[in-house]
Amino acid sequence: MITDLKDSTLLRTCGLINGLWKESNKGARFEVNDPGTARPLAHVSDLDQEETEEAIQAAAVAFRDWKSRTAKDRSRLLRNWYDLILMHQEDLAKVLTSEQGKPLSEARAEIIYGASFVEFFSEEAKRTYGEIIPSPAVSKKITVLNLPLGVTAAITPWNFPVAMITRKVSPALAAGCTSVIKPAEATPLSALALGELAQRAGIPAGVLNIIPTSRPARVGELLASHPLVRKLSFTGSTAVGKKLMSLASSTVKRLSLELGGNAPFIVFDDADLDLAVEGALLSKFRNAGQTCVCANRMLVQSVIYEAFVDRLTQRVSELVVGHGLVPQTTIGPLINPAALDKVEALITDAQNHGARVEIGGKALQGPGTFFEPTVITGVTSKMRISREEIFGPVAIIQKFTTEAEVVGLANDTPYGLAAYFYTRDISRAWRVAEDLEFGMVGLNDGLISNEVAPFGGIKESGFGIEGSHHGINEYLHKKYFCLGAMN
Ligand code: ADP
Repeated sequence: MITDLKDSTLLRTCGLINGLWKESNKGARFEVNDPGTARPLAHVSDLDQEETEEAIQAAAVAFRDWKSRTAKDRSRLLRNWYDLILMHQEDLAKVLTSEQGKPLSEARAEIIYGASFVEFFSEEAKRTYGEIIPSPAVSKKITVLNLPLGVTAAITPWNFPVAMITRKVSPALAAGCTSVIKPAEATPLSALALGELAQRAGIPAGVLNIIPTSRPARVGELLASHPLVRKLSFTGSTAVGKKLMSLASSTVKRLSLELGGNAPFIVFDDADLDLAVEGALLSKFRNAGQTCVCANRMLVQSVIYEAFVDRLTQRVSELVVGHGLVPQTTIGPLINPAALDKVEALITDAQNHGARVEIGGKALQGPGTFFEPTVITGVTSKMRISREEIFGPVAIIQKFTTEAEVVGLANDTPYGLAAYFYTRDISRAWRVAEDLEFGMVGLNDGLISNEVAPFGGIKESGFGIEGSHHGINEYLHKKYFCLGAMN
């Protein structure tokens, strides 16, 4: 139970379809747990394909009016939503921490980060300019209109239960599209609280619909293959992204896929050691290592290697594991027992292949799914732990000697989301930034995402841009409008 909210009506447990709170047609509910206590928090309506169909139809009807409104009107309603999210920041952060586990300070930061997309796209709504192109024929006028795609779907993960929704839905609504959201089954309460605030903001019925479900494959299949859904934006694992991509091919649906990552974090000998260690902590241990842009592999040059390992191990020993609502906590629980098992299996495999645990390395006694902050050295690129996404508070460190070697190691992955490197040599900075095959690269910085910058990957990390002025284009199509006989 989440008891101490200032506004308890933010705690919604039904789906949101066409402006109404909706029970499952069969009366089914599923349990949402607190990963920090392993106790149930709420029982949420378990919607299925039938209700998803209703939501898609409602979104199709709502689209007719929504797209015809002025951009200024849509902008105003999004701005109302933004104001309400900030007004309820503390309650939203408590709900987020309760169902997701991250420390309350990080949850507060996620609410601000999530809200920033609503604010940014409320402004961008007014800037979907078209074009007039100089014509090769005297009697023809050549114009390009930017028009909304129609009904769009968003399938979002549990690691950022607020920000991954606002990052997709705000540009969609700003562009004039309507949206059906399927939040992750672990974290529907944050999504539903956002839905409640969207209602209060005056966003019309059917424009924003939410389908909580414990059956993501069934609901996902309908969203990815329904002819009325013109665009699907997905954030999650590469395996599920590939399935959705194949389902979306039946209707040649537009897609944005933000999939897994395997971010290298490179520290050259000439780096500012303190800056690199603090960047590593932030990039690796935020959200207990459960982000797709987390430093997954630390690659450290030989001269600075020992000092970096010592300093990082020292800083990691200062992290405080605990329930996210306890003020001192800096590392919350992992999302569920399967996540603990996965992290443990990767560490065992690494140890069996010669890696050394400097600190941590074990799951903690429950209740709650906690894992010790861990540093592992002597890692090689053959080990599973350096090839797979760890999604836990485990820093793995590998030594390298030359720039060419480390660029090769960094790029030796099917993923291409984020990469980080630390150096003070400006020529090397430019060279390495260009050579790293990743969609986002941070120099001397471990935390690079914000609403004004383009977020997105290459290779098997997916495609499509979220955030920034490019983000709204994912929800628009360019219509060439030719006016003839204009002499
Ligand atoms: P993670 O491993 O981070 O949980 P997933 O890809 O499993 O990543 O989950 C991301 C989102 O995808 C969640 O909303 C989840 O419910 C949804 N999902 C999981 N499996 C499927 C599927 N087969 N089809 C559609 N969506 C799915």
